Amino acid sequence: MRCALAQGRTQVVFGSGSPNADLMFVGEAPGFHEDQQGIPFVGQAGKLLDKLLEGIELTRADVFVANVLKCRPPGNRDPLPDEIASCEPHLFRQIELIEPKLVATLGNFATKLLSGKPAGITRVHGVEQEVTLGPRTVLLYPLYHPAAALYTPSMLKVLEEDFARIPALIERTLDEPPAIEPDAPAAERDPEPVQLGLF
Ligand code: URA
Repeated sequence: MRCALAQGRTQVVFGSGSPNADLMFVGEAPGFHEDQQGIPFVGQAGKLLDKLLEGIELTRADVFVANVLKCRPPGNRDPLPDEIASCEPHLFRQIELIEPKLVATLGNFATKLLSGKPAGITRVHGVEQEVTLGPRTVLLYPLYHPAAALYTPSMLKVLEEDFARIPALIERTLDEPPAIEPDAPAAERDPEPVQLGLF
């Protein structure tokens, strides 16, 4: 078995939403309700995510939602470095298949993993950055985790403000020519991937 979390889970929480989404959210790990239902972000944090999406006239059917970990850590504790390392290939494969243009990371774990940098969410939230993930370049957009914003009104306000920029960021990525030209020289088609395995 690749990861000990498999022993305690009710089921794998793979991800949900549109396989053709331009916008993908990446959270941390399933909690109690997600583990029960097999769908990410169905608890309180998920309700807030739905509301934030509604605020920019999107629904869960328009986006894809996944997590860094696909199995619930016991007691909702933080993901451990070896759990992140074990699950990382699944997330990268999901991103490869869905080909989102904009990847919004929710909280520290997803942000650090996908940016390949140690800078925390307090510093980098609301600041979009281009990252190369495998063969593709995507716009990464770090956001506060909705669970953190649930009980901190000042954080919720910042999350709402950051969220409000999403439609313009999607527009921007759609206006841009494709990140990879099909007939580009091999060196351009296979840029250095970000350094993974930070944890
Ligand atoms: N928090 C997460 O990070 N992911 C979920 O799926 C639910 C809560």
